[in-house]
Amino acid sequence: MSLSNKKFLVVGLGLAGSLISYLLHKQGAKVRVVNQTDPNSASMVAAGMWNPLSFRRTVPTWLAPTMIETIHKVYPEMEKDLSAKFFFPRKIVRYFPNEDYRAQWLKQAGKPEVSDFLFLGDDKLSVLKNLPSKVNPDQEYFGVVGEAGYVDLPAMIEAWKNFLIEQQAYTEAAYSSSFLDENETLIYANGVGALNTLPELDDILRKNKGEVLTLKNEWTGDTILNNGKWLLPLEDGNCRLGASYDWRSSELERSEEVKDFLLQKLDELLPGHESQLLKHDVGLRPTTKDRRPLVGPIPNRERTYIFNGLGTRGVLIGPYCALALVAHLSNKAEIPAEMNVQRFF
Ligand SMILES: Cc1cc2nc3c(=O)[nH]c(=O)nc-3n(C[C@H](O)[C@H](O)[C@H](O)COP(=O)(O)OP(=O)(O)OC[C@H]3O[C@@H](n4cnc5c(N)ncnc54)[C@H](O)[C@@H]3O)c2cc1C
Repeated sequence: MSLSNKKFLVVGLGLAGSLISYLLHKQGAKVRVVNQTDPNSASMVAAGMWNPLSFRRTVPTWLAPTMIETIHKVYPEMEKDLSAKFFFPRKIVRYFPNEDYRAQWLKQAGKPEVSDFLFLGDDKLSVLKNLPSKVNPDQEYFGVVGEAGYVDLPAMIEAWKNFLIEQQAYTEAAYSSSFLDENETLIYANGVGALNTLPELDDILRKNKGEVLTLKNEWTGDTILNNGKWLLPLEDGNCRLGASYDWRSSELERSEEVKDFLLQKLDELLPGHESQLLKHDVGLRPTTKDRRPLVGPIPNRERTYIFNGLGTRGVLIGPYCALALVAHLSNKAEIPAEMNVQRFF
């Protein structure tokens, strides 16, 4: 069934709201978005990286091959449709903190589900370009993820928002029920803001505070460096350094302690290297107790859906989850149990 005669109102224009409104529009639906811009929203401060491996145990993340295949379709197509650039593949150099970790990495690298994502070229050092002279890594002590990168989320959201504005389909406001037309289906994609709009999510949706720094430095590499924390070189020549994960605090104030810790990890990555701190951002990731998204019809509400809970890996899992919701809305396809909001009710 096509969506060409269906109307939707999406609440929120972060990563979730952008993906779901864009993909519904691509299916021919008539979509409006109401969003209250917040410079501290998760999508506005996120580094936007994707990485199909979890570095804790060197294992693939949830449905990694499918997620990777999907992001390589959705973001580039969106770039093309919007004549914008925001999808940037980058390799990740993961330094091994100790012998045990190195042994685990080498063991896991022998498995196809892991090695498929690794860069296994003979000369791994060639990946590390333009390192400062004091940095002299031993190639036995790092591994390289070949399938990774980042999406410039503010650029993506801006491009899609401009399109919506041209279509007169965007309203800058906090949602209230007076916005909803009689024949529209409502989709809440408002991140942690949903805790104020949907009381039934009280014990389901959680906040995970994150902090990230933006720096200017002389390093001109094009590889993400990771030693437990990461340094991401951006297209504009600056770098981002992050991130912190805090489940206890949901206040948006910046922590000096977090900043100092991140800078200390930077010093391990690029010893003696001069950096100028440009920005210290803080935001709240919308996540859930089982770390899976919240997708589907909200129980006991008519024509009301949710697309939320994208958590720490929104860039990687967002497109696949949005397509699952589009398939459900267009032909009643089952929403996979792991992401279905019904699992909590
Ligand atoms: C420091 C940090 C670093 C991160 N790094 C990464 C990373 O490298 N890779 C990755 O994949 N993920 C990362 N994330 C997570 C990622 O940001 C989230 O998964 C994703 O951005 C969530 O998007 P969202 O659209 O659900 O929520 P949000 O980005 O919060 O968007 C919700 C939108 O809805 C609006 N809104 C809220 N309530 C209302 C209302 N009542 N009416 C109208 N509008 C409303 C908000 O203002 C906002 O614009 C990071 C997050 C943080 C905080």
